[in-house]
Amino acid sequence: MESLSEHEKTRYARHLILPEIGLEGQQKLKAASVLVVGAGGLGSTICMFLAASGVGRIGVIDADTVDLSNLQRQVIHTTPRLGMPKAESAREQMLAINPEIEVAAITQRFTAENAHALAEGYQIFVDGTDNFATRLLINDLAVQTQRPFVYGAIYHFEGQASVFDASRGPCYRCLFPGQPPRDEAGAPPNGIFTPLPGTIATLEASETIKLITGVGEPLIGRLLLYNALEMTFETIHLQKQPNCPVCGQHK
Ligand SMILES: [Zn+2]
Repeated sequence: MESLSEHEKTRYARHLILPEIGLEGQQKLKAASVLVVGAGGLGSTICMFLAASGVGRIGVIDADTVDLSNLQRQVIHTTPRLGMPKAESAREQMLAINPEIEVAAITQRFTAENAHALAEGYQIFVDGTDNFATRLLINDLAVQTQRPFVYGAIYHFEGQASVFDASRGPCYRCLFPGQPPRDEAGAPPNGIFTPLPGTIATLEASETIKLITGVGEPLIGRLLLYNALEMTFETIHLQKQPNCPVCGQHK
């Protein structure tokens, strides 16, 4: 188990005094590796909380550069870093928060060709994407490599989150017994309420830290639905689909 320096014991003091986390949980965080796919609205807050919590190795992948129109909600990026690759900008901010961790910034698209190689060596995949195609790719890789996939999605004032772990519950494809939805190429961008990605990403970071430390009940087999206008949270139960093409009996 990774030991903690005196410096780290001070940094993580409020975690160390939580009985559920403690020294053992903090050591698990230090030994953990997480891949965050996307450094946009969701990825911003996921990355900052994972860095602050002391996750030892974080990979962040995003092919885009920081644009002025991102800053209304992608809070890891800053005005002086406009034009910088988002993965690099995220890395800079994460290391500014916590220089004790390792961060790999990957300025590439996450595709069927490179996904396997990029994801190798990370124990949990976290969704910071904005499209179905990439989520399906992460999901299928997670099922194949028996890794958990922490999921989040946002639209206007609403968001949702779940944890997919095919060994213990449904996978993302189980949500779509028929044909999974397709993204409309070239569709105009969706409106996003400024704090919405932060709310959902905070839930994703919470679930990731829980999976690593083994505390609490993960959102496996449950989909959390959030509505910022009505300020409601609702949980619905998800079923594993026996004929799911990825995790079912007849895959
Ligand atoms: Zn499935």
